[in-house]
Amino acid sequence: MKTSVIGFPRIGEQRELKKSLEAYWSKKSTFDVVEKTAKELRARHWGYQKDAGIDLIAVNDFSLYDNMLDMMQTLGAIPKRFRDLEDKTYQYFSMARGNDTTTAMEMTKWFNTNYHYIVPELSLDDTYKLDISSIKSQYDEAKALGINAKINLIGPITFLALSKRVDGGDTLELFSKILPIYKELVKEISNFGGDVIIDFHEPIFVRGFEKALFLLKDAYNSLASKNKVIVTTFFEHSSEATKVLLITPIYGLGLDFVDGEKNIDSLGDIAKSGKKLFAGVISGRNIWINDLEATKTKIDNMLKVIDEDNLIISTSSSLLHTPFTLEYEDGLDKDVKSWLAYAKEKLNEVSTLSKMFSDDFNTSNNVLLQANIEAIRNRKTSKKVHNDEVKNRVKNLSIERDTPYEARIKAQREAFKYPDLATTTIGSFPQTAEVRATRRSFKNGEIDSDVYEAKMEELILDCIKFQEDIDLDVLVHGEFERNDMVEYFGEQMSGFAFSKNGWVQSYGSRCVKPPVIYGDVSRPNAMTVKWSSFANKNTNKIMKGMLTGPVTILNWSFVRDDQPRSETSYQIAVAISDEVKDLESAGVTMIQVDEAAFKEGYPLRDENIAEYERWAVEGFKATVAPAKATTQIHTHMCYSEFNDIIKTIEAMDADVISIETARSGNELLKIFKSVGYKQEVGPGIYDIHSPRVPDVSEMVKQIEALMEVLPKTQLWINPDCGLKTRKWDEVKPSLRNMVEAVKIVRNK
Ligand code: GLN
Ligand code: ZN
Repeated sequence: MKTSVIGFPRIGEQRELKKSLEAYWSKKSTFDVVEKTAKELRARHWGYQKDAGIDLIAVNDFSLYDNMLDMMQTLGAIPKRFRDLEDKTYQYFSMARGNDTTTAMEMTKWFNTNYHYIVPELSLDDTYKLDISSIKSQYDEAKALGINAKINLIGPITFLALSKRVDGGDTLELFSKILPIYKELVKEISNFGGDVIIDFHEPIFVRGFEKALFLLKDAYNSLASKNKVIVTTFFEHSSEATKVLLITPIYGLGLDFVDGEKNIDSLGDIAKSGKKLFAGVISGRNIWINDLEATKTKIDNMLKVIDEDNLIISTSSSLLHTPFTLEYEDGLDKDVKSWLAYAKEKLNEVSTLSKMFSDDFNTSNNVLLQANIEAIRNRKTSKKVHNDEVKNRVKNLSIERDTPYEARIKAQREAFKYPDLATTTIGSFPQTAEVRATRRSFKNGEIDSDVYEAKMEELILDCIKFQEDIDLDVLVHGEFERNDMVEYFGEQMSGFAFSKNGWVQSYGSRCVKPPVIYGDVSRPNAMTVKWSSFANKNTNKIMKGMLTGPVTILNWSFVRDDQPRSETSYQIAVAISDEVKDLESAGVTMIQVDEAAFKEGYPLRDENIAEYERWAVEGFKATVAPAKATTQIHTHMCYSEFNDIIKTIEAMDADVISIETARSGNELLKIFKSVGYKQEVGPGIYDIHSPRVPDVSEMVKQIEALMEVLPKTQLWINPDCGLKTRKWDEVKPSLRNMVEAVKIVRNK
């Protein structure tokens, strides 16, 4: 059986591309070096795929920054402010990152992944102009290396749907302008010679997106009339689009059978159409080994409907969302490692699966399959994964706090006696070079725990002193012991593993290394109590404890695939709830449970939203359910737009929520008022993402604007996110001005 891979990660297994881009940006090296690195990486990645026996390999999956950005240059869809930049390279990176005189383009999340793309800015008076040079040269490179190449392109409807109109209106109105340039592109590609296959990615249709189905038909009736065109979707099913595509002249369809199981319902129609099916059965999103025997059975069932000649084994999406290879993971537990497959290992899974369909295949002789069978069996029963006590605790989870909000807030305000417009921060204070160096030397064993703790206590005391000096109402300890709000907790819970080289691209040259949740989650020891209670004992002011919530930990990790995500979320909730109780017993009775990434787990299809919201809200509530009525629970979310989810936010029932509204005045707060939101709210009053120090009068205005929307009894005053990325000499005057502004408003 033939095989194909949608796309491969590009940053490099030693993050070579990152390093060479960053050296170039900081003028320590030249663009020639970047190009050389890029060329080497492409050749290496194609080589891996060819060596693994993959039949059809992607070209133009590579990018120096982002594929949407590449597509903009290919189509000549350049925003006005960059159009006059003659040097293509300078133009490209200016669009991505801004330059001395021009602001960068906006960036946003690619569907429900943690990858971010650059958002095209289109307008009705654009004129497009094709530039095929980059695609052509990559294709020639691949051909010279003997690669059987298909060319990846973002399809026209997805390109438009993910763009924004700078002149107002719907981007889909530009369809008739953009289609001709796509036609020209396809025509140019057909001149490359051979029977080159074009793989158009149209993932927007996994959202249903029925309003654009007629455009989809028009697009591929014309783009596929003379060329071999595949249309690929991923991350969910796209059944509505499949129906339409099957009556166009496309050559094949790429569908996700891992995260889009409903695609199976389209099989009969696909069979009748006689088109090729690129069946995405190996996940491009997770890092777990595939259950090859189970997948073989799945494909056997497909073959009852579809001709073997028309079925190609593929990945569910580009492998972009997985790290490169396990080869450098010498620190992982041996069993855990045997359950993992990164991009390179997934190539072998694709090819092994294909071999399993050949007549002379011998299961017992195939080393990879034998190891796979053994690892799958071992993962199902391993004590490293399964912990009955955890499973039982989840079964008996309580979700509700004993006392309703009205009674709680009354008791809390009596206990804490904080004023209206109480001032606080979101948790972290600047992570200076000194802070990071201290953590690093402790981790490397250069200093022992006594020295480390003494240093941390010193930092905490300084931080308290500053907060007392400026007269903040509610203090924090500063989070100096934390490298990252998820990793810090993950490292202390069982069921988590941390890789050495599990980097995935987040945007541009930025990579993240998500924790791996492989087993039932529990918390052997208190994680934050030492720091928080030390801080609490060293001030007469209110000290707020600081935790990360289960949904955020889940959404920023690689999550096990052998149980529903909701189950893993509940397990984390139980573990964090133990921490809530321990903080409370230690006298820390104001506790913030951050859900910075709550919105990121939203499903792609509307019909699945209610279910996600149900368990995500329950996970948060279960985390704080054991808290006494007098213990005040805060949460923080890094969003400003709550219109769609306000009812869900309300259902979380946190006593206080702080949010990111600083950049939108009081506009976005209005939704809280219009739904009659009762709980207290801290709308960030200044933007911490910028080094700018807002002055007192500006903050007075901002506070007064907030008070036009919600009464002062319901408002807290705080910055809009944690301060860890800022410098002390920005933080000090900003917070001082903030407290000053509140005092002026209170005295009016
Ligand atoms: N408490 C965290 C901090 O202040 C919250 C971070 C976040 O919202 N991303 O850093
Ligand atoms: Zn935040």
